[in-house]
Amino acid sequence: MSRRTKIVCTLGPATTALETIRRLVAAGMDVARMNFSHGSHEEHVERVERVRDAAQAEGKVVTILQDLQGPKIRVGEVRNGSVMLREGEEVQVTSTPPEETTGDRIFIDYDSLVQDAREGERILIDDGLLELKVTGKDDSGLRATVMEGGPLRSRKGVNLPDIRTSTPPMTEKDLKDLELGLELNVDTVALSFVQERSDVEALVHRINEKDKNTSVIAKIEKPQAVRNLDAILEVTDGIMVARGDLGIEMPMEEVPGTQKRLIRSGMEEAKPVITATQMLESMVEDPRPTRAEASDVANAVLDGSDAVMLSAETAVGEHPVRVVEAMNQIIRQAEEYWYEQRRSLTMAPEQLERGENVTDSVSFTACRLAEQVGAEAVCCLTNSGATARAIARHRPSMPVYAFTDNQRVVAQLGLLWGTEAFYIPFQQDTDQGIARVHSVLHEHELVEPGSKVVITVGMPLPARGGTNTVHVSSVK
Ligand code: PGA
Ligand code: MN
Repeated sequence: MSRRTKIVCTLGPATTALETIRRLVAAGMDVARMNFSHGSHEEHVERVERVRDAAQAEGKVVTILQDLQGPKIRVGEVRNGSVMLREGEEVQVTSTPPEETTGDRIFIDYDSLVQDAREGERILIDDGLLELKVTGKDDSGLRATVMEGGPLRSRKGVNLPDIRTSTPPMTEKDLKDLELGLELNVDTVALSFVQERSDVEALVHRINEKDKNTSVIAKIEKPQAVRNLDAILEVTDGIMVARGDLGIEMPMEEVPGTQKRLIRSGMEEAKPVITATQMLESMVEDPRPTRAEASDVANAVLDGSDAVMLSAETAVGEHPVRVVEAMNQIIRQAEEYWYEQRRSLTMAPEQLERGENVTDSVSFTACRLAEQVGAEAVCCLTNSGATARAIARHRPSMPVYAFTDNQRVVAQLGLLWGTEAFYIPFQQDTDQGIARVHSVLHEHELVEPGSKVVITVGMPLPARGGTNTVHVSSVK
């Protein structure tokens, strides 16, 4: 049985060689993530080209995801590279140049820091290892007390979990990076530190300006984004549960429940969800994951994630190919358990009582029908990929095969749970479309000869209207 949960690999120095990338594809990489928080444009261009070459050589579709750094806040250069902050000490925090940070004056590159911060709010530095609490303001900046001490090093990241920051959703760097991404025709762009709907809309607007049909992913890594999730889901094509920053910005014990809620919401809205960060972290060095990590990956699968992500494990780790192999094995076993436990569809029929549109209703019916007649696949003819998402959100027990005349949609569906997409040329009528689906299923040996399949279409096909028809047939 094919694997349903997709694997996202972050590429980096450890995964730049063409041969390594080819092995990642062979091991199961479905999505290649280019992390623009690191690396030069030249490096990213080279990796994108190599992913495309490797995918072609392996005869697979690999989605290219560009991840924009977003308004990441950092401390300035620290004098002599490092200073010690001691618990209970008073420090001054400022965003006024000079950018230099010393033991008692900390520079943070967020212009409205002093304006936005209030007494009692926290300033977290270096993945939350260091914590300051604001005690007051004066002419030269904020006064703060060190709550958690330790060494402070240059350019470490800053999280301001209590503040709704007034940074623009994209920095100058993001705009330059996005321009490169769109030139490279990446399939999807993820935006970091989204706080609300308009942040995603700003990205969509830029993409539309360049007349590209690139999809977008909102990284949910701030409590503000969790609160505004419903509005964000209306405008984004997918979300990422970015547990690294999320676990700093909110108490880490709230992350597991939040992960489950986010995945559930994504499923309800038929928007793919990527669960990310530290999934097999120990494999950055070790050849085998811990049992707890294996459970984390399995539980993300059982929560219903569309995709699970590797970061440092593949970008800078010692065993980039082994880690993908391990993830693949863990996912397969977890999915076996999933099917053992579930006899019915994930989404309850009452979902349909809420006045959903025809595509949604037909897609649900197609999944039910497929279960009833024992079909080996649910197939759809789709222009935008929306019908594939509407089907996949029900997590049917048979694979979803999507057929589209848009190459970009083929690549974007690489992120979607349980779905494999195929390019077919534009079809003039429904009979031809169905015949074409049958021939692709046969050609790729996707179903046993004589088995039933369910196919959804929008009739008449040339109108490119919504999906309105379900068809059951046997493949010869
Ligand atoms: P990052 O995002 O790796 O770009 O920080 C993911 C996360 O925060 O979990
Ligand atoms: Mn992050």
